[in-house]
Amino acid sequence: MHYFEIKKGWLWCEGVRTVDIAKKTGTPVYIYSHRTLAEHYLKMDEAFSATEHLICYSLKANSSMAIVGSLAKLGAGADIVSGGELYRALRAGIPAGKIVYAGVGKTPEEIEAALRKGVAMFNIESMPEAEAINRIAGKLRKKVNVAFRVNPDVDANTHHYITTGKKENKFGININLALNLFIKAHRKLNNLNVTGVHIHIGSQITKIEAYVRALLKISALIKKLRGAGLDITSLNIGGGLGIIYSNESPATPAEFAEKILPVIHPLGVSLIMEPGRFIVGNAGILLTKVTYVKNGESKNFVIVDAGMNDLIRPSLYDAYHNIIPAQPASGKMKADIVGPICESGDFFGKDRTLPSLKADQYLAVMSAGAYGFSMASNYNSRRKPAEVLVKGNKFFVVRKRETYEDLARGECLPENL
Ligand SMILES: *Cc1c(COP(=O)(O)O)cnc(C)c1O
Repeated sequence: MHYFEIKKGWLWCEGVRTVDIAKKTGTPVYIYSHRTLAEHYLKMDEAFSATEHLICYSLKANSSMAIVGSLAKLGAGADIVSGGELYRALRAGIPAGKIVYAGVGKTPEEIEAALRKGVAMFNIESMPEAEAINRIAGKLRKKVNVAFRVNPDVDANTHHYITTGKKENKFGININLALNLFIKAHRKLNNLNVTGVHIHIGSQITKIEAYVRALLKISALIKKLRGAGLDITSLNIGGGLGIIYSNESPATPAEFAEKILPVIHPLGVSLIMEPGRFIVGNAGILLTKVTYVKNGESKNFVIVDAGMNDLIRPSLYDAYHNIIPAQPASGKMKADIVGPICESGDFFGKDRTLPSLKADQYLAVMSAGAYGFSMASNYNSRRKPAEVLVKGNKFFVVRKRETYEDLARGECLPENL
């Protein structure tokens, strides 16, 4: 579901023609639909309305201020994984009391900053981390709510780089060791309130069965923890709900809720969710312009002005993104859509059938809202692209394209070298 639509050959985002945006900002440019973003959030919220819950938007999917701030206004919390994301979440207006902090490698400085700001909860991934948080909380004379991330050892059937809930992954605590570890932390680490259990089994998950399997295991664990005297009051089920990139048919939030709530309800816990991709994935596109069409011996290449530094998902995960013309085009050609970067992995699509393309034609790489800009880099000394948020028939440049000065900011050549 999204509000990008072709009308008479032109690609519109809500009430704005995307090419009109490109004429103002140049390309490449990320374009986001506010309505798509908001509706995804609200659908999730609605699906879980029967149970006490907090949706902590996962900032790593897209941490741009306009995105996070829009969600903050709708009441979202945040799932963060670094001090930088803490800064961004707070700056975009998410209250500290709605922020949960995950990640395997939180540094002492990051832990201290999060404690000082008063985040709702730490999602702890190991005993040494629990000890560090306990020590720093003690120094600050604070007591903090924590959950342990448990690795339930289920296969989410997704790309191996984005499956996280199997025992060979680096994330969380093995479910067979979890009981003892929770009890030890509860008894020995006096500055921690061990009140939660956290799981996050992977990303771009289209079948709910893996969640149900994981939650059945977690439900049994919560009962044992309570039997051992721990007051478990919250369950964080992570993110991972998939979206449509090509022909997937992911579960809707309503179907998701229908299948998992029967396992969660009897536990009487408050529910935390950390969707990232589901909220923002289909709410954004990357608009780019054809620089050259190169007819090779065995293949045609459409060389565009966006590169893998702007959107790395095809290169990194072999991810599929639909690519469509953003303005009327006729004829037919088969081509690889590639960027200008000096890497063979710099492509957006291979062997795609498209209209006959020429230089200056605008193309849209669809479903690029999640893990797009947030993974962008300056490789090949390319400036990070602009970002635009559309709402109705208005659009706002919410991030300017970087300048060449930005590229060298903070650098120097030492004198007397
Ligand atoms: C990445 C991540 C998420 C978000 O995953 P999506 O697939 O984008 O929903 C949520 N929680 C944790 C702990 C994560 O690492």
